[in-house]
Amino acid sequence: MAVEALRCKECGATYALEARYVCDNCFGPLEVAYDFSDLDPLETRRKIQAGPRSIWRYSDFLPFDRPPRTALDAGTTPLVRADRLAERLGLREVWVKNDAANPTHSFKDRVVTVALAKALELGFDTVACASTGNLANAVAAHAAAAGVDSYVFIPADLEEQKVLATGVYGTRVVAVEGSYDDVNRLCMELSAERDWAFVNVNVRPYYSEGSKTLGYEIVEQLGFELPDRIVVPIASGSLFTKIARGIEEWIEVGLVHGEVPVMNGAQAAGCAPVATAFAEGHEICRPVRPSTIAKSLAIGNPADGPYALELARKSGGSIDAVTDDEIRAGIRLLAETTGIFTETAGGVTTATLAKLAERGDIDPGERVVIVITGEGLKTLDAVRATFETDVIEPTVASFERTLGLAQAA
Ligand SMILES: *Cc1c(COP(=O)(O)O)cnc(C)c1O
Ligand SMILES: [Zn+2]
Repeated sequence: MAVEALRCKECGATYALEARYVCDNCFGPLEVAYDFSDLDPLETRRKIQAGPRSIWRYSDFLPFDRPPRTALDAGTTPLVRADRLAERLGLREVWVKNDAANPTHSFKDRVVTVALAKALELGFDTVACASTGNLANAVAAHAAAAGVDSYVFIPADLEEQKVLATGVYGTRVVAVEGSYDDVNRLCMELSAERDWAFVNVNVRPYYSEGSKTLGYEIVEQLGFELPDRIVVPIASGSLFTKIARGIEEWIEVGLVHGEVPVMNGAQAAGCAPVATAFAEGHEICRPVRPSTIAKSLAIGNPADGPYALELARKSGGSIDAVTDDEIRAGIRLLAETTGIFTETAGGVTTATLAKLAERGDIDPGERVVIVITGEGLKTLDAVRATFETDVIEPTVASFERTLGLAQAA
């Protein structure tokens, strides 16, 4: 297998594949390092196509010596061509990667599948996470399916739908009076105290590998061809950077030919540290205090912000921010043109696509993919009062009068 070690993203120091996330030398973040030089592209492609209908079809690119057995799988979500959306925006070819179609209705099932499998391999019997909502759903469900104990830490002001969709699995839900960044800091402290696998803290290098599978799937579903541009929402910046990393790996192995697509990041204006740094042209994302309806993206101090900035610039893309009103409009636009109901994060993505189209950043001939990361039923408040319901008496006359319709012939 290709997986080799953990490697520091800053100084290149390497470490064994254990529960470790920060470099002893320079405090840089660690990531999984591979050697793909033995992979034959044709053989690898055949193996993928004959593989299971889950992220494990890409196991040559995941951090295990052999594919682990998992109780609840993720991946192989639909990539749908969205001609009506494209037409509304004056574009020719837009595709929607609908990652709400995962077991707990967000892309977080991908990262948790990988992190939990690694945690079990390393001998942990309890998993935990710091979550903006969807990660809590996924950790609770995958831990339940695997039969391990779990603790999920969330900001106390989270959407009720996400709390209910988490507690149902029998996890311990811990609501912290503070922002996500407070929750995350607490979990970093707890991970030093307790022998638990915090999926996005001490086993984060494995967790983030799960996001690469979104990139692989897009390429495979396009018939092993690359899109010209991908629009992705940014919270910590991990998903955004790992989609591009996955595609880079496939170009390196020869599974697909061409260049890494233009990468556009999407943030909510009420929590836009990466978009602000992009606009102002500096390297550092200054921490912000979030205030937005896109709670799943409300990370004020994004761990992978600097790498997201670098990727947006290097690929010729951008990182944009959209207001809460634009987010609501984005949810409606996607729903009305594709039949897909997304949560606020997907509203951020769709509104950012609309903004790029309006600004003339997108060539009409481009093939564009937008990544829809979560389900609309989890953030119902965002669409409350955006339409009217007609209330009638149970008579034909009342129906025709109220809706202002002429009598049927
Ligand atoms: C977690 C999340 C993201 C982005 O997460 P990163 O931390 O940037 O990897 C995007 N959309 C939704 C719905 C999420 O839950
Ligand atoms: Zn280092």
